[in-house]
This record gives sequence, structure tokens and C-alpha cells, in this order.
Amino acid sequence: MTDTFAADLDSYRTALRANLMRESSLHAWRTRHYATTEERIADHAALMGELYRQGWNRYGWPVAAGGAGGDERHRAVLYDELAAAGLPIPTPHLLLETLGPPVSRFAPELAARYLPAYLRGEEWWGQGFSEPEAGSDLASLRCRARRDGDNYVLSGQKLWTSHGATATRLVCLVRTGTPESRHRGLSMIMVDVDTPGVSRRPIALASGDNELAEVFFDDAIVPASRLIGAEGQGWAIAMYLLQYERAMYAWMSAADALRRLRELRDQLSTRLAAGGTLPGAAAQRLGQCYSQLITLRARSAQTVRRLAAGATVGPEASVDKVLLGGAEIALYDLSRDLLGPEFVFDDTATVAQWRSEWWYSRSATILGGSAEVQRTIIADHVLGLPKEATV
Ligand SMILES: Cc1cc2nc3c(=O)[nH]c(=O)nc-3n(C[C@H](O)[C@H](O)[C@H](O)COP(=O)(O)OP(=O)(O)OC[C@H]3O[C@@H](n4cnc5c(N)ncnc54)[C@H](O)[C@@H]3O)c2cc1C
Repeated sequence: MTDTFAADLDSYRTALRANLMRESSLHAWRTRHYATTEERIADHAALMGELYRQGWNRYGWPVAAGGAGGDERHRAVLYDELAAAGLPIPTPHLLLETLGPPVSRFAPELAARYLPAYLRGEEWWGQGFSEPEAGSDLASLRCRARRDGDNYVLSGQKLWTSHGATATRLVCLVRTGTPESRHRGLSMIMVDVDTPGVSRRPIALASGDNELAEVFFDDAIVPASRLIGAEGQGWAIAMYLLQYERAMYAWMSAADALRRLRELRDQLSTRLAAGGTLPGAAAQRLGQCYSQLITLRARSAQTVRRLAAGATVGPEASVDKVLLGGAEIALYDLSRDLLGPEFVFDDTATVAQWRSEWWYSRSATILGGSAEVQRTIIADHVLGLPKEATV
């Protein structure tokens, strides 16, 4: 491994690809299935540790924060090559890709202190934005942070916090202004979950997974040094973050979805080879799904390049998000339709994983901002269409 990889993306890709194919220590992650979310996150965190030890997942992150330099394209190549090698993209990378960029940019000292442990898989973070009365309309959030000397005192609740039940830290959007201040009165702050006054309750999903949590703050005291950016800058930082939550997330999800599509194809081929049959138009539907994922990937590649060049993608990231939601739902509906009765009744780990992912894919047009809201953002801020009259 040499630092020339930070400056030379092609040599990084070539060396990474060769290593992923050859490295026997990674092989076990190709075939593992997990009974619980907690097990999956912990084992994927161990994969991050291995990738960190070998240096590969440090590219694309600042040197001062435990990275090895390079930019968003290095991270995109890592996700791409992991998926192409039949390896999962470690689950904690999903939130790292959302939270790492704003923390690195607006709180470099916090990134220097905590990001290396995240990259090593020793800790991971959750994103505390949504609340019971504030999801699509984030500017109405109520979770309050009151300044008290060198600290903030947090009170209120967050909801739907992904990985919230197991995360070490939460990056929260909180109200530091008056209740009426809307987006102007918001700040972003990093909270350790073991702070007295912070409690968490896992939310069991339809699949049975404890992927999400509710988080409660009951006068939790958090040092002001944990602010990300300045007080009152929360909305601007959230907008910066959403580019990553929508666009980089779309790239990594597309890479992983293509891996799963290949696995579905192989499963169906095995069935055919054993004399089984497939539902009508199976090949055509596989082809349609592939085209949908490749369309997303083409769009997403352009967005990743823009982010790497330091451009503000802003509302255009909603296009990537809408394409991703549709493609993920199409893939998992396809698995349900083509696996047929096996999808419902088979209890092998392979089929159970398809079922669990099908359930999760129902949220693909909700998490990170609902599809309806994304389309409105595209209409208003990308296409500049006239506003609809409201009744
Ligand atoms: C699996 C999953 C993981 C999540 N992870 C996180 C996380 O880690 N951190 C976090 O903070 N949040 C997370 N969320 C929450 C997610 O961001 C919100 O669910 C989402 O923004 C929608 O907000 P809401 O649930 O409050 O729905 P609401 O805002 O109440 O919306 C309800 C419905 O009304 C529609 N709607 C609302 N406003 C409009 C409008 N102006 N125009 C048209 N239609 C509208 C929506 O499209 C939706 O269909 C997650 C959600 C899910 C499902």
C-alpha cells in the first residue's frame, strides 16, 4: 500500500480489486447470514476493522481524521469493488457516509478524535433528526438544547434513529432558538449515548429486526465543544449532509443491489439446473431490474464526481434518491415474485435474508426523505416549476 493511491484512483482500484479477490481473511464475509441486526452490525464492524487494518477503507477520508486522503470517488470505488467481489458493504458505512462528511467539514476536531475508531469499526454513530412530529417538516423539530455555561442541556425525543440502539454516538439536530424560529433556530451536536439522561428504546421492524430506535433526552448535559459548526448553523449543515445521505447512499446502495441481483440470478440458475422452472417473463424482468439499477448508477456516478469536485449538488441529490427508491423496491419485489412460494415458506438463511430485505425495502421511498417530498423538491428547486395552489 502506498500513498500514491490517494492521487491515483485507477491504481487504487486495481490494487483493491486484486486484494479483495486474493485475501483469504475476507472470504468468510461472502456467505454469512445473521439472525439479528445486532449480530450483523457487529460482524460488519469487524469487516471494517479488517479493511482498516489493510488500509482500504481509509481512502476518501481526511488524513487528520484517520483517513489516507483522496476523495468521494475513492469511497465510491471501495463500495463498488466490495460488491463486485461478492462482499457486503459493511452496514456501519451507511451512516458513516451520511455523518462523516459534515462532521469532517464542520467539526474537524471531533472528526480527528472519533472518526478513526468509526473507520476501524470500533464504534458507529446514529443520525438523530426525525421526531414524532417532525419528519418531512424537519424545521418544526422540538428537541431542545439550552445553553448553560460551557454545556447544552438536551430535552426531547428523536424517532426512527437507524442503528440507534447500538450506536456509540448520535449526531443530532436540535432546537437552540425559540420554538417559532423554524430552520433558523437549529444546531447540530454530537451526543455520546452513555451521557446520563440519554435513553434508547429499540423499535422492532416487521422483519423482526431492531434496526431503529427511539431516543429520549432528559436534561442530558452535553459539552458545547460537541457542536458541529456554530450555534444556529444546523440547517445549513443538515442540507450539506443530505447531499451525502441521498447521493453517496444511492451509489453504495446501487452497488450492493447489483450484487444481490447477481445472487438472485445465480439462485434461479441453480433451480433451473436442478430441473425446476421459473415464472413467466423471468428473464425479461431480471433485465428490466438490471436496467433500472444501471440507470441509477449512471446518474449516481455523475453526482459522486460532482461531490468529489467540491460542487454543491443540493436539491439535485433528490433525483438520485427517487431513482434509488424505485430500483430497490423493484429488486426486492422481483425476488419475491421469482422465488415464488419458496420466498414465503422456505426457512433457509438465504431465503430468510431475501424476506428480511424485502420488508426493509418497503421503507426505500420513506427514509432519507419521502419520495413525495423529493419530487416536490425536484419540481420546485431543480425544474423551477410554478408552485401549486394550496387549498
Ligand atoms: C427505515 C427507516 C430509517 C430511518 N432512519 C432515520 C435516521 O437514521 N434518522 C432520522 O432522523 N430519521 C430516520 N428515518 C425517518 C425518515 O427520515 C422519516 O420517516 C421521513 O423523513 C418521513 O417523515 P415522517 O415519517 O415523519 O412522515 P411524515 O412527514 O408525517 O409524512 C407522512 C406522509 O405524508 C407525506 N408528506 C409529508 N409532507 C408532504 C408534503 N409537503 N408534500 C407531499 N407529501 C407529503 C409523506 O410523503 C408521507 O407519505 C428513517 C425512516 C425509516 C422508515
